[in-house]
Amino acid sequence: MNATRLSGIGMTSQRTRSRLVQWLLDEGIQNQQVLTTVEATPRHLFIDEGLSHRAYENTALPIGEGQTISQPYIVARMTELLLETGASDKVLEIGTGCGYQTAILAKLCKTVFSVERIRKLHMQARKTLKGLNLHNIQLLFADGFNGWQQNAPFDGIIVTAAPAQIPEKLLLQLADGGRMIIPVGSQEAEQELYLVERQGDKFRKTFIEKVKFVPLVGGVAR
Ligand code: SAH
Repeated sequence: MNATRLSGIGMTSQRTRSRLVQWLLDEGIQNQQVLTTVEATPRHLFIDEGLSHRAYENTALPIGEGQTISQPYIVARMTELLLETGASDKVLEIGTGCGYQTAILAKLCKTVFSVERIRKLHMQARKTLKGLNLHNIQLLFADGFNGWQQNAPFDGIIVTAAPAQIPEKLLLQLADGGRMIIPVGSQEAEQELYLVERQGDKFRKTFIEKVKFVPLVGGVAR
């Protein structure tokens, strides 16, 4: 990839990115590794060039197909929660979208598995992540309600779209001692972000904060 495009200029420059990181710090993100990774990850490459100038604002942005790239704060927060106890070997993400969260996870975990139900987004994310030379990522075009059984159990599961209830199949693909970060709720109501910790056959659910995500939808879209 062109070095200037990768490092960014003006509104995509390193200075603009550092400002975002300062903001995340002010908002309470504490994990230094997470902050460093956000600072080093070119978010502008995951969105349409026409929106590049807004890439380092703390907002969700459209990525096509009616979907959005998550707000940097929520990406950082979910990643921080996932890694709190160092559960970083095998991670499953449901909802690859443009692959931004996937890229952040790939820099902090050994292997990242990510599932996306919209073919076009899946293909585009593959291209973007390849361009960034991230090779510890496996992408799957499928319905994430089913998880990714062949690679289970996972030390961590991050769900980046909201189901009405926590899918049972995902809980069962969590390793003993594993952690899941998931938004739950309908589109009309406010959704809630939860941390679910598995201990044997027990699942402990902790409310984190109110959030707004696109819905987790069943089936695939070719
Ligand atoms: N992590 C993404 C967030 C994208 S928005 C990012 O950083 O850009 C959530 C994504 O979840 C959308 O791309 C949507 O298509 C996808 N999604 C929704 N339901 C899904 C399902 N059942 N299986 C897999 N992906 C799903």
